[in-house]
Amino acid sequence: MTHLECTRCGATHAPARPSNLCSCGGILYPRYDLTTLRSSYNRREVADGPPTLWRYRRVLPVRDEANVVSLGEGFTPLLRAVTHGPFAPFTDLYLKDEGPNPTQSFKARGMAVAVSMAKELGIREIALPSAGNAGSAAAAYAAKAGITAYVFMPDDTPSLIVSECVAYGARVFLVKGLINICGRLVAAGAKARGWFDFSTLKEPYRVEGKKTMGYEVAEQLEWELPDWIFYPTGGGTGLLGMWKAFAEMEALGWIGPKRPRMVAVQAAGCQPIARAFAEGRADSVLHENAHTVASGLRVPKPLGDYLILAVLRESGGLAVTVTDEELMAAQREMAEAQGILPCPEGGATWAGLKKLVAAGTAKPTDQIVLFNTGSGLKYPECLPREVPGPVLDPADPKALDAVI
Ligand SMILES: *Cc1c(COP(=O)(O)O)cnc(C)c1O
Repeated sequence: MTHLECTRCGATHAPARPSNLCSCGGILYPRYDLTTLRSSYNRREVADGPPTLWRYRRVLPVRDEANVVSLGEGFTPLLRAVTHGPFAPFTDLYLKDEGPNPTQSFKARGMAVAVSMAKELGIREIALPSAGNAGSAAAAYAAKAGITAYVFMPDDTPSLIVSECVAYGARVFLVKGLINICGRLVAAGAKARGWFDFSTLKEPYRVEGKKTMGYEVAEQLEWELPDWIFYPTGGGTGLLGMWKAFAEMEALGWIGPKRPRMVAVQAAGCQPIARAFAEGRADSVLHENAHTVASGLRVPKPLGDYLILAVLRESGGLAVTVTDEELMAAQREMAEAQGILPCPEGGATWAGLKKLVAAGTAKPTDQIVLFNTGSGLKYPECLPREVPGPVLDPADPKALDAVI
């Protein structure tokens, strides 16, 4: 890493001290000397690396190996979808399953790199607002690093995820209000108490961990990017990170100029990006009274809206919305046909794909990657509620009669 660069005004910042946003309010991206790396870093070195996101070590910002805080994150499976049931027409569909990550969501990627950087920069206390999974990932990595994590979550966050944060020893607080309101408390606390503000994209290194999803998709598809990527978009860091990864890989000579069409999948009950995209706006308007069971998508006004909208347009992609009924039905279809139990956000990508195919925008024969961003087991309230049949008494000779 050579420096941090503002994505709004282009100003450069030294990476040697803790940084949040640029003085212009823009988001900072880490930059690397890719011209020099191009002649010394190749895909073979990656192939020989560990089966974690640290296989892309030389395009990650941590300098001293001793500061790497790892729980084995990344290098998750890219599963080829089987073509039966509702998936029958989809002949080149892949599911990138982020469920196997530490803390069972892709948020582990961002936190592995961000907490490692916090350690490197000597930060002792971090604070963040979270819709759920970012909080538990931060809590887990902070625990390993010996850093104190303050986590502020909406009071209706899935209760299992709240318990998970508490279990990792974080200082957890529930807040009346959504993630943006939690963010205000964090900003006030950062000022008053000196916590380091770990909010997504206000902290410049979470995006670096998440960009490794882009490196992995390329590597797992033999360095040829797909036609489409469907990504359940809340704060948008994953989508932005992948887009950044594609540019870096091209600069390194690892891939050509082909880019996937990026699709931001949002919930009908919280769709600031979809609305802004449809209205041709460069940034988003706060989605009032946001609600959806897909808690990771409940971000009523993402800080990175201007970057997300630019990526959708530049890639020839778009935003699509699905209702909670549609995404939960899709969750079930994925589980029954593919053998992975997606989180509701992951279900949303399959629901979104079906919509774009029905509209004639995407073809089922296109090469498509759907992101399942986490495990469905973290959302018991979205799991099937039907109880099994009667309890069988093995002593009853007619016990099997109840089995149909
Ligand atoms: C945070 C989260 C998202 C949204 O990710 P962004 O990169 O912030 O857009 C999607 N799914 C799950 C499970 C999440 O935890």
